[in-house]
Amino acid sequence: MSDPVQPFSTPAAPANFIRNLVDEDNRTGKWGGRVETRFPPEPNGYLHYGHAKSICLNFGLAESYGGVCHLRFDDTNPEKEEQEYVDAIIQAVHWLGFDWGKHLYFASDYFETMYDCAVALIEAGKAYVDSLSADEIRAHRGTLTEPGRDSPWRGRSIADNLDLFRRMRAGEFADGAHVLRAKIDMASPNINLRDPVIYRIRRATHHRSGDAWCVYPLYTFAHPIEDAIENITHSICTLEFEDQRPFYDWLLAALADCGKFRRPLPQQIEFARLNLTYTVLSKRKLIQLVDEGRVDGWDDPRLPTLVGARRRGFTAGGFRLFAERIGVSKADSWIDIGVLEDCMREHLNEVAERRVAVLDPLRLVLTNYPEGASEPCEAPNHPLRPELGKRTMPFGRELWIEREDFMEEPLKGFRRLYPGNMARLRYGYVVRCTGCEKDADGRITTVFAEYLPDSKSGTPGADAYKVKGNLHWVSVAHGYRAEVRLYDRLFAHPYPGARREGDAEGVERSFLDDLNPESKSTLTAWLEPALKDAAPEQSFQFERHGYFVADRRDSTPGAPVFNRSVTLKDSWSKQKG
Ligand code: ATP
Ligand code: MG
Repeated sequence: MSDPVQPFSTPAAPANFIRNLVDEDNRTGKWGGRVETRFPPEPNGYLHYGHAKSICLNFGLAESYGGVCHLRFDDTNPEKEEQEYVDAIIQAVHWLGFDWGKHLYFASDYFETMYDCAVALIEAGKAYVDSLSADEIRAHRGTLTEPGRDSPWRGRSIADNLDLFRRMRAGEFADGAHVLRAKIDMASPNINLRDPVIYRIRRATHHRSGDAWCVYPLYTFAHPIEDAIENITHSICTLEFEDQRPFYDWLLAALADCGKFRRPLPQQIEFARLNLTYTVLSKRKLIQLVDEGRVDGWDDPRLPTLVGARRRGFTAGGFRLFAERIGVSKADSWIDIGVLEDCMREHLNEVAERRVAVLDPLRLVLTNYPEGASEPCEAPNHPLRPELGKRTMPFGRELWIEREDFMEEPLKGFRRLYPGNMARLRYGYVVRCTGCEKDADGRITTVFAEYLPDSKSGTPGADAYKVKGNLHWVSVAHGYRAEVRLYDRLFAHPYPGARREGDAEGVERSFLDDLNPESKSTLTAWLEPALKDAAPEQSFQFERHGYFVADRRDSTPGAPVFNRSVTLKDSWSKQKG
């Protein structure tokens, strides 16, 4: 794997209810100090920021207790899963900086064991073959206030059940003709315990097991067994599985009773999933954005996928910081996307070298600087990390400056260039503005100034000039042009698709209505020469403009293309909040 390892420091883990549980288990000696977790994605889509929270939680927990975390593909559903997703998930977890060692598993490798478990349940009188249709089963299930009714097939003999289940596997019946159900309690107040379906007939080709099977286990049956097979100690999942925990426990206890697994059994623990403002984190919606061409593919830097984040220049260190900062809890809540952006900023501020880019160029001519001459100026690569050294920026008679750094008639408080004013060209000289030139439309084309030869930064006496304005610049003769993309939030509303005050009765909003039409803009910028050698995925702070990364897909050697990862400050909350 050629993925670059990103430097980051993992902050000390603060206490949370999951760590408290693990501490308690360690105190009582339940697992003999062992901590074994798993991250169990279904390979039916690309991982998103929400998965990053789960990955950091599961791998982070194992890491901090000297345990292990498994990467397990929960691929028991034959219809929606693909190898493409498996590969992308492996890359994404590695990119986040986590390693599962030898613990890479596929739930589909356990199909035989799962089948044996089902047989064991039948033999123990705890499962039966039902021949009702899916609609009839639903009608028998009852409601929250009414108990369910027994299926007429609930009383089948163990011998009949064994025979039928074997023939289901052998392919003797059509899809949907029979199902296998756990035999628990049709009157349970928890609907999930009213004899849940655990196996169904489905003739579908599985991405790994091919056509070996025509019966497939349901997720709620498969998942606890996967955990038990792998000796997971703490099985962490999101809150919507809370109502499934009684079945999780019932199933593993029943299988332990018939000798399939040993106690103690894995414990399911639920936490609140990540909800982020200005973002959608549901696979269904992400697929829709990609399929309808609303974004440029799964790795579009605006998409909250981890492949998108990577192209955006978000960092693994930033995600880890974010996971620590938001913590885990049992209460559903929304996290402001500004928190994530701040974490990226914080991490990038530490690791990204500084460079200069002029995004909206205007020509500045120093009329008293010799034509054709040039000289080096030294600029530190990182103001707080002198060990990162300095680089040379060539200075010359013609320079690109930002258009907004000149005003012919300055507004009150404007400190940069205007006729008669002095400002410093950062790492170079102090200049005094003498005027400007315009085209026929009145648009300024060139600014003129004179440089003060004894004012060069770093030379004795340079500090004698007290000027307020400080400009960045790129030499016209030495800089080069490159495509730069400015990315912004994909949605213009904090809760995409949510009803808003004033919405007419009965009007449905779609999350697509809340797309931000200005989420991407492309421009041609002038960059300092040192940026020409930027490696794909290298991040920089472009002074005054924010953090940018050399795009890993569109850059070519000697011609990087840059994506803005995040602005220097949170300008969004002031502008549009
Ligand atoms: P989606 O709801 O987007 O379809 P999923 O839960 O079906 O996602 P899985 O591949 O099953 O996706 O998820 C793998 C793991 O990631 C699960 O343990 C799941 O709980 C966790 N996970 C998914 N979404 C989030 C989220 N928003 N916040 C935290 N954890 C999440
Ligand atoms: Mg899921």
